[in-house]
Formats: sequence, C-alpha cells, structure tokens
Amino acid sequence: PVRFSAEEAAAPGLPDVVLVLLRDLTQQRRLEQMRADFVANASHELRTPLASLSGFIETIQGPARNDTAARERFLVIMAEQAKRMSRLIDDLLSLSRIELNLHIRPDTRVDLVHVLREVMDALAPLALDRGIELRLAEQAAALPVQGDRDELIRVFENLVENALKYGGSERGVDVVCAEAAREDGSREAVVSVIDYGPGIAPEHLPRLTERFYRVDVPRSREQGGTGLGLAIVKHIVNRHRGRLSIASEAGKGTIFAVRMGLAQVLPESEKIDRSMS
Ligand code: ADP
Repeated sequence: PVRFSAEEAAAPGLPDVVLVLLRDLTQQRRLEQMRADFVANASHELRTPLASLSGFIETIQGPARNDTAARERFLVIMAEQAKRMSRLIDDLLSLSRIELNLHIRPDTRVDLVHVLREVMDALAPLALDRGIELRLAEQAAALPVQGDRDELIRVFENLVENALKYGGSERGVDVVCAEAAREDGSREAVVSVIDYGPGIAPEHLPRLTERFYRVDVPRSREQGGTGLGLAIVKHIVNRHRGRLSIASEAGKGTIFAVRMGLAQVLPESEKIDRSMS
C-alpha cells in the first residue's frame, strides 16, 4: 500500500497528476480510518450495556437467587440497559438511513412554526419533570421550508432535549423562530435553541457533532444519551441544505441555531389568478 502523508504528497517536483492521486489516496485512507473508528466505537458502546446485562444475569442466577428484593432492583437496571441498547441501535439505523439519502433533498413543504409547536408539546413533560420553563417565541407567522417533517422534528427535539438535559437552569430554555434576510437578498428561517446553563468549553465546539463525541461521558450516559444526537442533527440539516451553528460561553449558556432557506411563496397576484381560473 502507498503510505504518503498529505505533506509528502505536496512535495515539490512531483507532477500534478501524481499529487492529485496521492491526495486522493490520503483522503481515502482518512475515510477508511474514520469508518474503522466508527465501527470500533459502536461496538464498544453496545458492549458496555451488554456486559452489564450479562453480569446481572449471572448474579440473579447465582448469589442473588433467593434475594427477591435484590432481584427486583437488578431487573430495573437491566431493563434500563436493554433500553439503552435499543436507543443506540435506533440511532445507528437513523444515521445510516440519512447518510444514504444525503444527496436527495426532501421536497415536501413544511412549516417550521408547526414543527416547533409539535416539538414543544412533545417535550413539555420532560421540562415539567425537570422543573425547567420551556418557552417558544414565534417571531414569524409561518416559516415554510422544503423538507422532511419527521426529520425536522427530530432535529429540534434533539436540540431542545439537549438544552433541557445539559443546559437546564432556573432561567429556563428559549426557542426562538424568526425570518431573516441573507446577503444575497433571499429569505431564510432561523431557529435558535437557547439555554442559560453551564455552557460548553471552546475546545469541544468543533468536535461536538462528531459521532460518539461527548463533553462529559458519565453525564451523557446518566441522561440516557447515545452520543449520536448531534451527528444526526448535523446530517439532517446538511440534507436540507441548511446550516447549524453553535455558540457557547462558559457559565452563561449555549445557542444552537439552524438556518434554512425559505420555500418560495406564491405572489398574491398568482394566488388570485389561480383561484379564479
Ligand atoms: P448525547 O446523546 O450524549 O446527548 P449529543 O450528540 O446530543 O449526544 O451531544 C453531544 C454532547 O454535547 C453531549 O454529551 C453534551 O456533553 C454536549 N451538549 C449538547 N448540548 C448541550 C448543551 N445545550 N449544553 C451543554 N452541553 C451540551
């Protein structure tokens, strides 16, 4: 196999064709490495709850055979571990499905305001359970985008859930949706999920959307996280030709913002013409 680093491949004196070829090989090796890392990580993430399950089964069959109270306690933990494995498998499958369709842009018309209302309803119980006030500020009457409704719900559910789980504070969590102008004059929808929690240190920000990357592993596990949430969010936003940005300040909080081009709205005159014909 050819073993050249990017620097070596850029050495002077090599013809352009060779340089391009070497650069492609370096890129390919990097992709292969990433794939191998991903499989290793996924196996490790599945093996941890599996090992714990096996341990409890042995204990129930052995030392705790006649201890009903202990057995009941262990069964609760085992059910939680089984749920964790199934969440992980669901997330892995979602990720691979989205990746497979990455180049196909969803084409139904979806109103982001409706999507957000649905997300707020779905997460109201979690917010209530944590005693965190969850607010939605609708600064636009409608935000029509071209998209996949279920995937967009997934994006904002993930972001709001993270805000509640990792950024919850007595100041609550705000979701703000608005319309804004782009530099080229076109219009876009901007949805910001804002928390006033501990924030994320700057060195973590660039890696946050990597699969299995967590700032605080025990905390993520304790919250039932799989470490795939933000990777899924980023993939869905990319598929929708949108942009995800993260701003955070230690001790102040975090803002996750999603921007997506607004779907063309028919001019009033065309609507009237159509309804009359
Ligand atoms: P997980 O399944 O662990 O929640 P995610 O991909 O959704 O995985 O998030 C990755 C990590 O980013 C989390 O484990 C957490 O450490 C950090 N994180 C995400 N959102 C926030 C937030 N609003 N405030 C602080 N940390 C966050």
